[in-house]
Amino acid sequence: MDYPNVIAIDGPAASGKTTVANLLAEKWGYLLFDTGVMYRAVTWLALEKGLSTKDEEAVSNLAQQVQIDVAPPSKDDGREYDVLADGMDVTWQIRDPRVDKKVSKVSAYREVRKALTEQQRRIGLQGKVIMVGRDIGTVVLPEADLKIFLDASVEERARRRYEQRIQRGGSADFDLILKSLTKRDHKDSTREIAPLRAAEDAVVINTDDLTVEEVVSRIEAIALKNKD
Ligand code: C5P
Repeated sequence: MDYPNVIAIDGPAASGKTTVANLLAEKWGYLLFDTGVMYRAVTWLALEKGLSTKDEEAVSNLAQQVQIDVAPPSKDDGREYDVLADGMDVTWQIRDPRVDKKVSKVSAYREVRKALTEQQRRIGLQGKVIMVGRDIGTVVLPEADLKIFLDASVEERARRRYEQRIQRGGSADFDLILKSLTKRDHKDSTREIAPLRAAEDAVVINTDDLTVEEVVSRIEAIALKNKD
């Protein structure tokens, strides 16, 4: 089957972007690149090094220097891929609520975005890729062959994130998750540089009443139609 070469999937936190993209990538033999892990890795490293996330210069320097790699999963512990920051396995550390809380501050910095966007573009332009994020269709790869914007109500997204945490054997507080998602979306969509929004030529899919499988087949149908 002939699918579009470069696909951008954007949307708010916990809208199911990565789950859906992962299934499509496996099915099509494409690379999945989840750009959120890069912002998360920089944030985690900054916290680990004891930097204040308010220190724009120090955090920007870190983003320019750190080597972030995404590799096939090395462990069978529920991960979809390994995330390495300067060779360190930070796959689960970057999902810590402390990172959730600070990542939108870090991702709003101009030099942080510049450093990470350049790397993302280089990977995206190699093709056969599904790139997931907030600004892929608008800024990182505006020339993408297919742009999807996945949306869902914040309550539904909080419910999904809550269940994901419980399934992984962790503890979770629904109200805290709801509050954290709401805050992060607000910061991500109101920032000055590359805010979260659907590209004008993106297909918007509201996933509130759809299963993961339904979203996957809808995107597949759009991808095939798009090729004609
Ligand atoms: O997708 P995920 O929730 O892992 O992203 C974490 C954070 O990284 C987002 O809340 C946002 O602040 C930032 N991000 C971004 N641009 C992207 C991907 C993620 O600003 N392309």
